[in-house]
Amino acid sequence: MTDKAVILYIEDNPDNRMLVYRILRAEGFEVHSVPDGQSGIEFLDHTTPDLILMDINLPQIDGYTMTSRLKQRPDLAHVPIIALTANVMKGDREKTFEAGCDGYLQKPVDVDKLGDQIRSFIQVGTFNSLGG
Ligand code: MN
Repeated sequence: MTDKAVILYIEDNPDNRMLVYRILRAEGFEVHSVPDGQSGIEFLDHTTPDLILMDINLPQIDGYTMTSRLKQRPDLAHVPIIALTANVMKGDREKTFEAGCDGYLQKPVDVDKLGDQIRSFIQVGTFNSLGG
């Protein structure tokens, strides 16, 4: 077992995957990135991450649908799902919360802040189960 927090990042854009992977790895996280929802589900069948970063515009299954499906799984109910999206039109933020997302981050990511943003979501998400 590792004591690093494990992040699953579901994102179809390889540049975004590489950027976020590099930032979060440098911040001390263990990062697994996958290009679509099906790959995400396969990962989640054997590993429970500390947080899921969810792109919204994904091929086949979009991030809203993915989030609502994952939130129905008892084994994942406690895992924060954070939308990371370029959808910043009026109403987009509300749609991510309606789908079950616990947080919302806009693209482009803020390289200097992303680590702290992720840490704050993990602390909120695990406070009850792990006592902080
Ligand atoms: Mn996308």
